[in-house]
Amino acid sequence: QGRLSSKTAIITGAASGIGKGTALLFAEEGANLILVDISEDKLNEVAAEIRELGGSCEVVCGSVGLMKTAEEAVALAVSTYGKLDILFNNAGIMPVGDILDYAEETWDQVLQVNLKSMFLMCKKAIPEMLKANGGSIINTSSVMANLTEPGYTAYSASKAGIIGLTKEIAVSYTEKGIRCNSIAPGWVETDMNVKLADSMGGMDKLYPIIKQQQPLGRMATTREVAYAVLFLASDESIVVSGSHLAIDGAASAA
Ligand code: NAD
Repeated sequence: QGRLSSKTAIITGAASGIGKGTALLFAEEGANLILVDISEDKLNEVAAEIRELGGSCEVVCGSVGLMKTAEEAVALAVSTYGKLDILFNNAGIMPVGDILDYAEETWDQVLQVNLKSMFLMCKKAIPEMLKANGGSIINTSSVMANLTEPGYTAYSASKAGIIGLTKEIAVSYTEKGIRCNSIAPGWVETDMNVKLADSMGGMDKLYPIIKQQQPLGRMATTREVAYAVLFLASDESIVVSGSHLAIDGAASAA
């Protein structure tokens, strides 16, 4: 018996980072999972880890930017587990560059993977949530929706767009039992930031910046972010809808 027992959840970007951390926690809390990612090997490794722990999951390998992937994920949830209760739209990419050098194709790709994906997933998931008499949608935005830096042109735009999409779904569907919230993580210990540290010459170079930006003084772990997602996914947050939750060690307050 867990906080998500008898619930079915789709998690995108589940092969790594925040998505993987959340998949493990949701499995521990009794959820049946559909894990979506473009990285097939890593996705299968996470699925194997969950099954070893006694959890139940199925995988969909594909890009969240495509309608086909949304259709497949929702259909698999219904055919395997009979219903869909939770959607964690979390996959994202972060190519950076000055607007003058930023390729139009890169802009389109970032908006497709980070934002359009959520529109597509919600479009397919909401009808099933209505059949299940309600549901919870959590969309991963970022502290960078509001506090940007040079070079985050498309990333910040996509993450700010997520806030608008989230609020629109909340005002349209909360009355029908479907809640929708966005989360805004700050610095989190994931592959994305390990890669960033490598490009700067190591974690030692990145840590002074983190200390200055995030009063917590360190990165959050993926598990720590997952606890906040768990709250929003579970019935404990039954009156929370249309909110944008900072999970950033006070970065946005500083
Ligand atoms: P990550 O790179 O560890 O994980 C992202 C996952 O998304 C990967 O498994 C990747 O394969 C998958 N993915 C990428 N493109 C995809 C596509 N087209 N279709 C399906 N899957 C795809 O990064 P993370 O830090 O865990 O990022 C998760 C989310 O959190 C992202 O939306 C990111 O923008 C957001 N975020 C991260 C931080 C941070 O500090 N790490 C902070 C704020 C917000």
